[in-house]
Amino acid sequence: MMRSSTGPVNMKTRGNLIVISGPSGSGKGTICSTLLAEMPDLHLSVSATTRGPRNGEKDGVDYYFLTRVQFEQMIAGGRFLEWAEVYGCYYGTPRGPVEEAINQGKDVVLEIDVQGALQVKTMFPGSVLIFLIPPSRAELERRLKNRGTESAEAIEQRLNWVEKEIKQAGKYDYLVVNDEVTAAVRKISAIITAERCRPGLLDIDSFLQQYW
Ligand code: 5GP
Repeated sequence: MMRSSTGPVNMKTRGNLIVISGPSGSGKGTICSTLLAEMPDLHLSVSATTRGPRNGEKDGVDYYFLTRVQFEQMIAGGRFLEWAEVYGCYYGTPRGPVEEAINQGKDVVLEIDVQGALQVKTMFPGSVLIFLIPPSRAELERRLKNRGTESAEAIEQRLNWVEKEIKQAGKYDYLVVNDEVTAAVRKISAIITAERCRPGLLDIDSFLQQYW
């Protein structure tokens, strides 16, 4: 059939899994909310956790705040796409909403730690792993202290953990240094846009049937 309209051609059939990791305090939260404002078609996955809510965090928006028993029941029921223990608390990505969005052709952003990211890559080799690196250890320490949400001991624990995480950054598909929010978001949105053009996600047969 000849294509007669001049509207955009949408060849995409399934959504992509976009995983964004980076040390605590690397600015992931700000980056993700700015990214979502610029690319409103993205679906941001809301994780579940057993850590308590910080000031201003809302259940069902920032996280689903669960007890350990509730979390373990979800693990047993196979209801997580991935889960991991970070800083002594459980964190996990509920499977249902992610699968639903992907099947609707939406790209899904998971903001998760390195252990979770590598699990996702093993299960879904087509997923896109982006590691967000803070510009320096000193800057990361400054951001964590300024945030004022963690005790000195928790900050020290997080800084030690960061060193381990950064060593895994080479396993990611992309590295983005977060020295400036606007520039980092521009890079990430360019990555997401480019990844949408990969032939693996495009249904070329149905495109040919419809338009050629
Ligand atoms: P925070 O307590 O600072 O919100 O998050 C601590 C760490 O847990 C961060 O590195 C964050 O990316 C990670 N995290 C948040 N949600 C998930 C999740 O669903 N799965 C995994 N594996 N890590 C998560």
